[in-house]
Amino acid sequence: MTILKAMVLYKQEPIENNPLIYSDIDKPEPGHGEVLLRIRCCGVCRTDLHIAEGDLRPIKLPIIPGHQVVATVEEVGEGVQEVRKGDRVGVPWLYWSCGRCKYCRRGLENLCDNALFTGYSVDGGYAEYMVAKADFVHPIPGFFDDRHAAPLLCGGAIGYRALRLTGLLERGEGSLGLFGFGSSAHMIIQVAINKGLDVYVFTRGEQRQEHALQLGAKWAGKPTDESPIKLDAAIVFAPAGWVFIEALKKLDKGGRVVLAGIYMSPVEKLEYSLLWLEREVKSVANVTREDVREFLKEAAQAGVRTEITIYDLKDANKALQDLKHGKLKGSAVLKII
Ligand SMILES: [Zn+2]
Ligand SMILES: [Zn+2]
Repeated sequence: MTILKAMVLYKQEPIENNPLIYSDIDKPEPGHGEVLLRIRCCGVCRTDLHIAEGDLRPIKLPIIPGHQVVATVEEVGEGVQEVRKGDRVGVPWLYWSCGRCKYCRRGLENLCDNALFTGYSVDGGYAEYMVAKADFVHPIPGFFDDRHAAPLLCGGAIGYRALRLTGLLERGEGSLGLFGFGSSAHMIIQVAINKGLDVYVFTRGEQRQEHALQLGAKWAGKPTDESPIKLDAAIVFAPAGWVFIEALKKLDKGGRVVLAGIYMSPVEKLEYSLLWLEREVKSVANVTREDVREFLKEAAQAGVRTEITIYDLKDANKALQDLKHGKLKGSAVLKII
């Protein structure tokens, strides 16, 4: 058995205690319909922090976190046809869905009752190798190098699902508000503008507003500022109930607010007048394969630039600490090769 290295979480603890341990693990073997991946790099996500610290209930312990995996296929298991040895692929949060439950049958595999999630219910990408389901890995467009591709696989893909759910992509025009301007929003603004939407960015911090304007926003200001225009749709990335209310206030008749965060602080008071005239609210959970594949294509077409900070695999705790304490510029990526 070949021995290889991984950052393994044995016990959930505050990230300052360095709960991820640099460990020897056995090289996994691909089963039927699976592929063995030689991991090149893996993005670091806030969800990994929640898994490490125990905000998310453990499904499997010990676990190797990481669900923004860029890898090359080293071996294919029996029955694998679409994917070949040597292909460069990405593995996102959705590791597998059942295809049979009522959600899967409706095209909502992101809500699958039996879904497996990468780096949460199954070992993920903070390692030299992993096994993935051949039907759930996604080709990475040549436009992206390994490391800049990693953040696309979670923050980018979730943001893209939120963008789809606004309904504006089908219309190919309209005014879109982005509330909060972190790494997910800075990928999505580039795709939204490329698709013909007018984007207005609401974020605190002048640097972020400046960055939004550089990326092509029509206007940037604070969430509490008056919007220059009524918005056809808004995506709320900031995990704060009051920001959601600010977004609703700026929405045009028949408009929709999409909530892209996993958490949100409670909404203090919601006046019905803000929802009146057919305004809608929708949250986003996980991603489908279609979201990831379509987004990777759109991102390459729009020439999306991601901003990254690179860490060694061994320094995953440090990367998560920096994420927790807001010390990161862009997204953290663990380099493995
Ligand atoms: Zn994630
Ligand atoms: Zn299902």
